[in-house]
Amino acid sequence: MGRMTSTQAARMLNKLPRGTRSVATHIRSGHFPTAKSYRFRFKLSDSPLCSKCNEVDSITNRIFRCRKFDQAGLFLRRRIYGLGLRFEMKYMLSNEEALKSLYEFFKNQHSTHPPASGSST
Ligand SMILES: [Zn+2]
Repeated sequence: MGRMTSTQAARMLNKLPRGTRSVATHIRSGHFPTAKSYRFRFKLSDSPLCSKCNEVDSITNRIFRCRKFDQAGLFLRRRIYGLGLRFEMKYMLSNEEALKSLYEFFKNQHSTHPPASGSST
């Protein structure tokens, strides 16, 4: 695990599928287009707050706190622990498999269907 240089990080990102890479980039930059706080800034939404928990709808809120994504968050957490990582952004962002799991986490949120549950690795 350990810290990555930006070159190492870039090299790892280059190997990832495009969707995964763009989620990683969005998370790193803090500009995730579906987060309400981001949409609010560009007047695409009338409130930056999550309708469920009333906290600012940010990436970290979705992953670590929001009740709305409880089930998906739990699933993600299990995947991360399964990789032997701590459930913290800095570790997840420097691990290829963790990034893929993050991508799955967000990909499911784009869909109108509930995230698939019960599947295991
Ligand atoms: Zn929420």
